[in-house]
Amino acid sequence: MFKEVILCKYGEIVLKGANRSVFEAKLAKEMRKRASLYGHFSVSHAQSTVYLEPLDEACDIDGLYEDCKRVFGIVGVSRAAVAEKTMEDIIAVAKGYLPAVLRGYKTFKAEAKRSDKSFPLASPAIAAEIGGAILETVHSLRVDIHNPDVVVRIEIREKNAYIHAGQEKGAGGMPSRSAGKGLLLLSGGIDSPVAAFMMAKRGMEIEALHFESFPYTSESAKEKVLTLSDKLCAYTGQMYVHIISLTHIQEELRDNCQEEYFTLLLRIFMMTLAERCARGYHCQALVTGESLGQVASQTLEAIGVTDSVVHMPVFRPLIGMDKEEIVKIARVIDTFETSILPYEDCCTVFTPRHPRTRPQRENVMAELEKIDFAGLLEEAYATMYTVKRTIFPEETKKGSTNI
Ligand code: ATP
Ligand code: MG
Repeated sequence: MFKEVILCKYGEIVLKGANRSVFEAKLAKEMRKRASLYGHFSVSHAQSTVYLEPLDEACDIDGLYEDCKRVFGIVGVSRAAVAEKTMEDIIAVAKGYLPAVLRGYKTFKAEAKRSDKSFPLASPAIAAEIGGAILETVHSLRVDIHNPDVVVRIEIREKNAYIHAGQEKGAGGMPSRSAGKGLLLLSGGIDSPVAAFMMAKRGMEIEALHFESFPYTSESAKEKVLTLSDKLCAYTGQMYVHIISLTHIQEELRDNCQEEYFTLLLRIFMMTLAERCARGYHCQALVTGESLGQVASQTLEAIGVTDSVVHMPVFRPLIGMDKEEIVKIARVIDTFETSILPYEDCCTVFTPRHPRTRPQRENVMAELEKIDFAGLLEEAYATMYTVKRTIFPEETKKGSTNI
């Protein structure tokens, strides 16, 4: 058996100048938290790579390896065998470790990187030796310098030498919690979880706000939203989900306002409540899953009206995407199958038969005069309660649900 470590290469962080170390520290913290779910690992970083080294036999290296692909800021993940810094040991480990790793490949190339310049052989010589050792051991493999199926890498670093092949793609983006906090308007649909993923990928911490309309929407609809939050937590680690009831607001709209404006008026309530919630929980922006022209409330005119009631940035990362592109991401992040479960969303309760697609702001605002806008907002805000979802068992134990 060979001692294995996980190597996670970081991406865009390397482009950061003076504050690169701040991002590195955030990433290392995130990796440390993740690693703690899989046993005792030592976590260190050097030369654009985070090293995760198991400290005892009980470590679940397979589990952590899979999880590393969901950590933002990481562009490539590989497993490596550790060797002592002598050519004898490096060759012995390469011969023992690589045959299983290289199974299925036809051609390879060996590359060496010697960041410890005191190592007696230069990189091309190390690569040539290991290439030769591989050819001796795996007879079905050929060398292809220009277009290999797989690249075998030997890295001579400060403490050890590492041998690995076949890096897998990481989630990319910037480390979690490195780009402020946004409040996501989270419905049970396909779009909003994808919007959350896209902003979280850029390092934004995400809190969610869900509107329910009990009894018009069901308990299962809310459970579905919490399941979607759990799926997002696979990437973000944890998430607070705030829940507000719109039942009375919707009944008032139904009873007093023109039907063609229902959805837009509801969206005005949603955005206003969301901004208040965002300010209360120190979120600097709102995030929605809107896509231009997807439905009547997402025409440019309708978005103009809903935007006019908020006074903080509203991010709509899906605005220029087709449904097909959104679905593709939803499948990758595993939210799609949950999103298509057929439960009512409050937006589909009392839906107008002929919604306004080109609303005039004055006409919409005139409709609001017919109801007690401020009073209904207060009443709805008072229904808010918060649930914390997390992948970290320690935090659940600290009494984090229904805070
Ligand atoms: P999805 O529901 O996945 O976002 P959709 O096409 O159903 O897609 P709409 O229902 O028009 O979109 O809603 C647009 C956006 O408004 C959503 O992406 C979401 O950000 C927000 N939204 C809609 N319904 C709710 C809700 N019940 N709670 C919180 N936010 C909501
Ligand atoms: Mg929806």
